[in-house]
Amino acid sequence: MMTLASFTPLIQASYFIAAGLFILGLKAMSSPVTARGGIVWAGVGMLLATLATFLTPGLGNIGLMLIAIAVGTTLAWWSGKTVKMTDMPQMIAIYNGMGGGAAAAIAAVEFAHGEAHSPLVASLAALGALIGAVSFSGSCVAYAKLQGLMKKTFTLPAQNVVNALLSLATVGLGIAVVIGQPANLTLVLAFFALALLLGVIITLPIGGADMPVVISLFNAFTGLAVGLEGFVLGNPALMIAGVVVGAAGTLLTQLMARAMNRPISNIMFVPINAGANGEDEEVTGSMRALTALDAAAVMRYAQKVIVVPGYGMAVAHAQHKVWEMASLLEEAGVEVKFAIHPVAGRMPGHMNVLLAEAGVPYEKIFDLEEINAEFGTADVALVIGANDVVNPAARTNKSSPIYGMPILNADQAQNVIVVKRGQGTGYSGIENALFYGENTRMLYGNAQPVIGEIIQHIKTMG
Ligand code: NDP
Repeated sequence: MMTLASFTPLIQASYFIAAGLFILGLKAMSSPVTARGGIVWAGVGMLLATLATFLTPGLGNIGLMLIAIAVGTTLAWWSGKTVKMTDMPQMIAIYNGMGGGAAAAIAAVEFAHGEAHSPLVASLAALGALIGAVSFSGSCVAYAKLQGLMKKTFTLPAQNVVNALLSLATVGLGIAVVIGQPANLTLVLAFFALALLLGVIITLPIGGADMPVVISLFNAFTGLAVGLEGFVLGNPALMIAGVVVGAAGTLLTQLMARAMNRPISNIMFVPINAGANGEDEEVTGSMRALTALDAAAVMRYAQKVIVVPGYGMAVAHAQHKVWEMASLLEEAGVEVKFAIHPVAGRMPGHMNVLLAEAGVPYEKIFDLEEINAEFGTADVALVIGANDVVNPAARTNKSSPIYGMPILNADQAQNVIVVKRGQGTGYSGIENALFYGENTRMLYGNAQPVIGEIIQHIKTMG
């Protein structure tokens, strides 16, 4: 007779196939051309791993698991369908936090069983719990900030000392839990409470241009925590998925931190005398507007135009119009290039995804390091709904929250045309001297109709 135990080789094989699908999926996600397929591969892997788990001999609480899966699937389906593209970062932050929380919950259940674990298993469980809990509560704070529920950053007096003491206390409790196997429940609760508090305290002071890096860092944390709990449960799919996510997240964090010119330690531990909440440098002068007709004429008779898209282009869904305009200019003999800042928009690769969706060929899209030297030779820098990524305060104002972040050198172009709706600040909430520059003209309005108007004018110019 077939028993569930006879499924064990099948379960193990399914886990390995699932892990292989995760790796293939991640590989495919490295290019916008294959990314959609990559998500499907990884999703099939996750489905396979979940189904295989139900064949585990001695599995209990199946009813509860099915209810949890039904609730989770419904919520995820609904939120995935309804989320606006511009709200994706906070959705990623909260879902990522859930992964960290789930990993910490696995450890909590292992400790709560009251059985003694080997020192290795207990240490891995505790480490995964610490990292997962920090990722969970930190991601919740990041979600609140990105969703606009929390408008400010909060820095405690002697923040570094508090961070260090809290970290030490949490690690100390974690060691006590590991040494005192089977775990004392009060100690376990105190350990989890401190780990959750640590995530909150570390994330509260982080804001402005550092948010993308911290989201990516928590993503890496979640992967690591899941991988560690995979070792605890002896589940190869969890181990491999966790390690892959952890490694990818770590690489992305490094790339983003390098792009922002910020060591990760500076982001997590507020440097002494840091000016993350610093004063806005006073910007003098006035902004000068121009009409869509003038903008069309300047670009139509230019030799080289560099387009700098930002968050406002995403809000306005203007990417298709922007590409239509660029194509018209190219037909008229103008060289058009797109300059992408690593943190433009609200998620890594945000602008690349939008431009790819609009059909802009990859060879026309350039990263900051590739294109920055070219602004000096451009007749026009057309800034569409971008603000922080072209703010010269990042170069000069030491107390600015974006100080030290490399920016796109739009101000070095002969003419700068900025498309935005009004006087709104960017994500960092600071003034931008570029808008007051001698060579800058403001073209006010929602990016999509404004670019549409420019297109009409270019068409009439022949
Ligand atoms: P910003 O947020 O700095 O500026 C966007 C500008 O777009 C605003 O000044 C706004 O001005 C304008 N805008 C908004 N809606 C429209 C519209 N419909 N039409 C035209 N303009 C519009 O964007 P950037 O891309 O320059 O910078 C990204 C910022 O977000 C950075 O500070 C980055 O650190 C942060 N961030 C990035 C993440 C990432 O992973 N990429 C994640 C989290 C934060 P107005 O209101 O006047 O129209």
